[in-house]
Amino acid sequence: MQRKDDQPKRLALLTSGGDAQGMNAAIRAIVRSAISFGVEVYAVFEGYEGLIRGGDAIRPMSWDSVGGILQRGGTVIGSARSDEFRTRQGRLKAARNLLEKEIDSLIVIGGDGSLTGADIFRQEWHGLLEELVAQQSISIELAQRHPHLRLVGLVGSIDNDMYGTDMTIGADSALHRITEAVDAITSTATSHRRAFIIKVMGRNCGYLALMGGLATGADWVLIPESPPQVEKWEDVMCERLKAGRRAGRRDAFVILAEGARDRDGKPISSDYVAEVLENSLGEEVRVTVLGHVQRGGAPSAFDRNLGTLLGYAAVETILSSSPADEPKLIGLHGNRISRQPLMECVRQTQEVNQLINAREYERAMELRGSSFKEAFQTLKTMLRALPHPVIAEQPRFRLAVMHAGAPAPGMNTAVRAAVRIGLDRGHVLLGVRNGFQGLIDGDVFEMNWMSVNGFAPLGGAELGTNEKIPSGSDLYHIARSIETHQIQGILMIGGWSGYEAAYRMLQERVNFPAFNIPIVCLPASINNDLPGCELSVGADTALNNIVEAVDKIKQSAVAQRRCFIVEVMGGKCGYLALMSGLASGAERVYINEEGVTLKDMQLDVETLNQSFRSGKRLGLIIRSESANDVYTTSFMCALFEEESADLFDVRQAILGHLQQGGNPSPFDRILATRLATRCIEYLIQQAEQGKTESAFIGLIGHEIKFSNLEDFPRMVELDKRRPRQQWWMDLRPIARVLANPPSEIQIS
Ligand code: ADP
Repeated sequence: MQRKDDQPKRLALLTSGGDAQGMNAAIRAIVRSAISFGVEVYAVFEGYEGLIRGGDAIRPMSWDSVGGILQRGGTVIGSARSDEFRTRQGRLKAARNLLEKEIDSLIVIGGDGSLTGADIFRQEWHGLLEELVAQQSISIELAQRHPHLRLVGLVGSIDNDMYGTDMTIGADSALHRITEAVDAITSTATSHRRAFIIKVMGRNCGYLALMGGLATGADWVLIPESPPQVEKWEDVMCERLKAGRRAGRRDAFVILAEGARDRDGKPISSDYVAEVLENSLGEEVRVTVLGHVQRGGAPSAFDRNLGTLLGYAAVETILSSSPADEPKLIGLHGNRISRQPLMECVRQTQEVNQLINAREYERAMELRGSSFKEAFQTLKTMLRALPHPVIAEQPRFRLAVMHAGAPAPGMNTAVRAAVRIGLDRGHVLLGVRNGFQGLIDGDVFEMNWMSVNGFAPLGGAELGTNEKIPSGSDLYHIARSIETHQIQGILMIGGWSGYEAAYRMLQERVNFPAFNIPIVCLPASINNDLPGCELSVGADTALNNIVEAVDKIKQSAVAQRRCFIVEVMGGKCGYLALMSGLASGAERVYINEEGVTLKDMQLDVETLNQSFRSGKRLGLIIRSESANDVYTTSFMCALFEEESADLFDVRQAILGHLQQGGNPSPFDRILATRLATRCIEYLIQQAEQGKTESAFIGLIGHEIKFSNLEDFPRMVELDKRRPRQQWWMDLRPIARVLANPPSEIQIS
């Protein structure tokens, strides 16, 4: 995209309200895409305060001025609350200061308050200009050159409380802080058999508490949208925690949202919950108020990419909108960028707050959206001490849960959800150890509620996994195991080899009648290389592992001018490479989908030489492990070093298995829980209806969908082990635009 004559020549951006991790990624993306499109870009320092102060609080930004900020929390251009901006007089000064610099396009990153303020400013713009002309503060010609203020809003808020976007910038990082803290507290709580109350932020929104509870395995969660509906809720809570103790739980913790209240609208304080628990459990209770820790720290990979993509889209929107267009809020819907009418989103957001204050909780819950509601339902089952009692006349199906493929963080979380949902619905859940080999060996055992206790945050795969794809006599043994254990449905949580194995069983139904049972595959692979899903469980954790490692690698290069070539996993699927390249600000990403040619590398060396010559100190290239069989990482290092003309040295870093390790990220835990819940429901439904359809599940856009397992070969490139359709390939041009200043973009 390039700016046309009738499009804005200059734009300004500001961050306002509470700061949030990922704002810097948005700032960087706005500045760099504006420069690439030929638009001059100014940053307003200290939010609306800076707009009112003017002068050097509104500064032109260069490509390099936003270098090295992706990994930093907060906002480098500062944020502030401004009472003066709430007054017309304040906004009059703001208009004059913008016009002084001939700016009539504004991108605001903030919460609903900041966006409301921005929209009032936009609506008043014409009147403000008339007043300034009348005061002779500005010339009539200047006013005529800028008859409208173009406005675009991005939501930066850890609370995830905004209507019109699935995620606000900062919410995922805040969830990282919460899960890290709760995971850490769990180990001490377990050692001492202690109860903990963890208070989390979120104002009127229970998102952080709800998802934090789901991701960590909390025993009780209190959120503003759904106050306990019984009068003596304290007794119910205490009884639940006691039952948990009786069932063998050593820890007990309650997550409390800061805006939680009882059904009469009375706020519930952490001290009150502590007192109630102490009296009832007769044990020590500790309160941890997480506070501003949740706003701090490095942004997660998700927030870096969210900020980046939204920032890029904000500039595109400014350029493509007509001056008098209604302002847009740029958000995320599914995995896609959405543009919604800004004021409608603000209005709906404020409506939820009003509904909560008016104690109309059901309607408030409705407005939070279906996945919020669904998560709350799932949470209610997960935090039970034991399943509902089995109803005698109801059929009890025997459902097996297993893994296959390489380990992926989140596998245990998925098993936990599957087992608990299945047991709670009255069925028998069987665990298969060690993937398809376990099914061949008949290594199958019955699981109970406590077999998955503590699984939510656990990395690795407790059931064990391997990459065996059964063939020949293996199939006979599998059929025997299915018959012996009377398995009526299988949930395979795993990666590529699991999908292939499940498909093989489907094909072999004619030879093995025992295979006539429903099989459902849940995508769990760090590579994100599975069909019928846009994000597989484990990929987000791997991405965070890569991004954290790259942050450290970059910091190691303080003295020399250096270029790193970092090799990441992914097989022949370039998802991890591209997304980690975006999240870490790589100059170049090599993926198998695009291939690598000698000419590419030659151009890349020239680009690097040029930027090191003009002062660059650090270069970063991400190479997917199978980008090209001949041009390996070490080959590239040698080539770049040789051609660097002593301007810089080159080091390689092959990240290897650290990418598969670690505890799952909150995103992966939530995804695993959502998908596993649906998979078990699918198997139960198939069994109830006497059907044997087999499927794989996935999040596509905004929805969870099942694809027919029959379609597996049609939806993939079998030899490359990746899906035919990969949504993220559309993000490549954005990565290119942000990687190098316009004069240095040479790659075709
Ligand atoms: P957030 O944007 O995170 O919701 P606030 O509600 O504190 O945070 O708003 C941040 C700033 O936005 C305020 O300090 C004020 O300058 C401006 N603002 C908020 N609401 C309005 C309003 N109704 N009119 C004008 N400015 C507003």
